[in-house]
Amino acid sequence: MSEEFILCEGLVKIYQVADLEMVALQGLHFTVDKGELVGIVGASGSGKSTLMNILGGLDRPTAGRVRVGGNDLLKMPDRQLNKYRREEVGFVWQQSTRNLVPYLNAVQNVILPMTLAGLTGLQKKRRAEELLEIVGLADRMHHHLPELSGGEQQRVAIAVALANHPSLLLADEPTGEVDSETAKTIYRTFQTLTRELGFTTLIVSHDPGIARHVDRVVAIRDGMLASETIRQSVSTEMNANGDATGAEEAHEDQYAELVVLDRAGRVHVPQEYLEHFDIRGRAQLEITEDGILIRPAVQTQTAQVKVNGDSADASKRLPPRPQQPVPETKGVRKLLGRFSRKK
Ligand code: ADP
Ligand code: MG
Repeated sequence: MSEEFILCEGLVKIYQVADLEMVALQGLHFTVDKGELVGIVGASGSGKSTLMNILGGLDRPTAGRVRVGGNDLLKMPDRQLNKYRREEVGFVWQQSTRNLVPYLNAVQNVILPMTLAGLTGLQKKRRAEELLEIVGLADRMHHHLPELSGGEQQRVAIAVALANHPSLLLADEPTGEVDSETAKTIYRTFQTLTRELGFTTLIVSHDPGIARHVDRVVAIRDGMLASETIRQSVSTEMNANGDATGAEEAHEDQYAELVVLDRAGRVHVPQEYLEHFDIRGRAQLEITEDGILIRPAVQTQTAQVKVNGDSADASKRLPPRPQQPVPETKGVRKLLGRFSRKK
């Protein structure tokens, strides 16, 4: 049985900048099981770092519920929140300079947070060496940072994040400044930590290919969870001629991007889909054999046209027929393609 380790419900974060209110998270629902490795993707400014900062106890939400491993991060007093951040969370940031001290060598960097936490003695060095071995840097322990590659520095940063036995690992674009091969070794390191050592890990990434490296990818749009990409292992029969003795099954990973419904049944429909079908304000929901169809509210549009008295424009506003090719919007074409392939 899996156990819910992170629970965000209706999470809201509003930043006050001068007289303006900046809504970074608007009612986000998100859960993560213990031991899961989750990727978080989304456009710049969608609220990914805000979510990481809240889960890491660096920032407080404005409203909603947020619990991590039984800690209520909204209600917890400051002193306890600081303790939570120091003891339960390991951070890995995009710039290795934010994670590491440049004039110390790898092992000294990993020892530093233990010293800050008040640990003494030989134990620290042993643990630091152990952690560097875990992240695959056994032969680089005494190198100084400038002697290490970008990927190696990020792996030292991961070891630093683990120094104080956290239960939650948060990485905010850890592969943002490395090439794709190096990114793979970083992902592999996170996989080892999650699978073999039982960490719960969230990785924010710009890389759409992250789905191949994690258990699940969630996409954030406008401060809300919009979709999840999950891996489905599909078995295909190698031998199609029905020869039972020769039939062999092959497993192939496929990725399905699924829209997320919150507990109230709300979904976030991508803006480009709405624009393409000219759906604004209201829509018609239709039950079909396969599911639920969202159509533009035709009557509302007619009324609108009448008010404008602009009949020439009316045809443009009418929804296109479902079979019509829609070359303008890549996302919609992809969506329609997916639907027609199913049939
Ligand atoms: P992402 O990490 O997905 O790029 P962020 O979480 O950093 O997005 O930001 C989400 C939104 O909140 C953005 O519009 C950003 O400008 C705003 N924001 C983030 N941090 C602050 C802050 N400290 N003060 C004011 N606005 C902020
Ligand atoms: Mg960010």
